[in-house]
Amino acid sequence: MNQYDVLQKYFGHDSFRPGQETLVNAILTGHDVLGVMPTGAGKSVCYQVPAMLLPGLTLVISPLISLMQDQVAALRQSGIEAACIHSGMEEQEYWNIVQGARLGQYKLLYVAPERLETDGFLSLVSGIRVSLVAVDEAHCVSQWGQDFRPSYLRIASFLEKLSPRPPVGAFTATATGQVKQDIARLLELRDPVSITTGFDRPNLYFAVERPRDKDRFVEDYILDHPDKSGIVYCATRKTVELVCNQLRRAKIAATRYHAGLEAEERRKNQEDFVYDRRRVMVATNAFGMGIDKSNVGFVIHYNMPKNIENYYQEAGRAGRDGSSAECILLYSLGDVQTARFLIQNSHDNEELSEEQAVQIQRLDLQRLDRMVAYCKTTRCLRGFLLEYFGQRQTGNCGNCSNCRGDFVQTDITTEAQKILSGVARIEKRWPGGLGVVALVQMLRGSKDKNTLKRGLDTLPTYGIMQHTSPARMRLYLDALEEQGYIINTQGEYPVVRLAADAKEVLFNGKTVTMTERKAAEKSNKTSKTKEVGVQADLPQDLYERLRAVRSELAQKQHVPAYIILSNASLAEMASKRPRTTGDLMRISGVGEARAHRYGQKFLQAIAEYMAQHPQG
Ligand SMILES: [Zn+2]
Repeated sequence: MNQYDVLQKYFGHDSFRPGQETLVNAILTGHDVLGVMPTGAGKSVCYQVPAMLLPGLTLVISPLISLMQDQVAALRQSGIEAACIHSGMEEQEYWNIVQGARLGQYKLLYVAPERLETDGFLSLVSGIRVSLVAVDEAHCVSQWGQDFRPSYLRIASFLEKLSPRPPVGAFTATATGQVKQDIARLLELRDPVSITTGFDRPNLYFAVERPRDKDRFVEDYILDHPDKSGIVYCATRKTVELVCNQLRRAKIAATRYHAGLEAEERRKNQEDFVYDRRRVMVATNAFGMGIDKSNVGFVIHYNMPKNIENYYQEAGRAGRDGSSAECILLYSLGDVQTARFLIQNSHDNEELSEEQAVQIQRLDLQRLDRMVAYCKTTRCLRGFLLEYFGQRQTGNCGNCSNCRGDFVQTDITTEAQKILSGVARIEKRWPGGLGVVALVQMLRGSKDKNTLKRGLDTLPTYGIMQHTSPARMRLYLDALEEQGYIINTQGEYPVVRLAADAKEVLFNGKTVTMTERKAAEKSNKTSKTKEVGVQADLPQDLYERLRAVRSELAQKQHVPAYIILSNASLAEMASKRPRTTGDLMRISGVGEARAHRYGQKFLQAIAEYMAQHPQG
């Protein structure tokens, strides 16, 4: 068997995807490799295919239990013997696996980095032949990366203890230039063959929205997409609870995930989502690493994440089976403050020294700035993301909210003057300043108790913007803050302040403009995208039947549906309608083990359909 046979037999693919072949061949000829590929591009195939051809065991170093378990489950479905060793394991289970590894039962063994230098593990690997070491999520080794894990720094000394040292492959989905250099240096890769494939995921639609009511937006979006499963990411546990409850009140099958829940509930909720019992997961960023669910149709960020690395990774959980999917970020100024607060108060990595922590905080704030820039940019969003990861893109992608939306520059000089003079009046009367709510109510001429009690109605600027909606006021205030005319102070009681540049507008008539999207068409174009973007002429009823067969099999096997087969594979099956097991194996993603194990059920469903639709 060669690498192409393995790819076909176990993974059901006719050909390698970009980058995979070079890395597979390099490993097979004994070279170290460094592969940077976006989520969904097929990183794992790069070491799983060589693992099947090399004589001994392939060790895969992976940071998360859930990630390992998912991979092992998928490998077993493909007919490959694999196991994992992690800290959550019973003693007996551990020894069974060690025993199995000694007897050569597995081709791949997944292990957490903390395990590597324990005596038990070292004595295990000294007695067996290790043909390849694959380091997954390799960016964790770098302090410049967003998930630095000091235990990754010990991988190099572990490798030294292996004799002979096997080829080493390092893989990650996100790495800027600096991080790539760090990976090669800190893992002590030897002249690695390095491939960075395109970061682009053409099937993902990217959007930044500034809805006046985020809750409404999320609820409407989900109700508008009744057969899509998706994730709503929130910045805090509290927001997760609020959003999840709201969706449930709207009769949406939603569940939730955050670190404040008991392990048992987390496990159950995750499973409900993965097994399609609940179609929406509302979660903090604690959710998702290691979730390989391929039929996620949308990822909404209710709050802006802390950096683009996290955003791209979280958004990238949509559309992994290649179907079209949407990634929508809901931006508001408050998110920037929350993110800054989280960065300044994060102590979640206790392995770090004081000095490391300070440096990391500085880098985190820089990364936050780029994230904010993404939310505000009017250029192509995909282009912005790709450039962040060092990939040039010229022109418009045509599949993001900026490329599809029409922008207009609105002259808001008059409004700006009114607002700024309102702030000036307030500062004069209350030198300590007032908050944004008081300002807006004063300008809009509100008659509420607080406004009147404070005497805001006696200012000459009271009510000068009474015909402007509160939402529109927000847009003006955002624009003025972004352009540096006003400042929202930090702290427990933020107040609005005039910035130095405000004088130019107030006294010298400087023009102020605001970039806004033409309201009319919005996302209707995108909300009608079909769940499966592969074939337009897809016989929907056959596809649904095949999905039903898959659900039945998944329930019997106690595995998530996508582990049996992806939506893309089902769609191809519905359109090509294979008649024999041989035909079935030619469907992308099927492979030999799956064809033999499940083939009959699918072939039967197709035959029945053909009998009822002789012309079809
Ligand atoms: Zn674009």
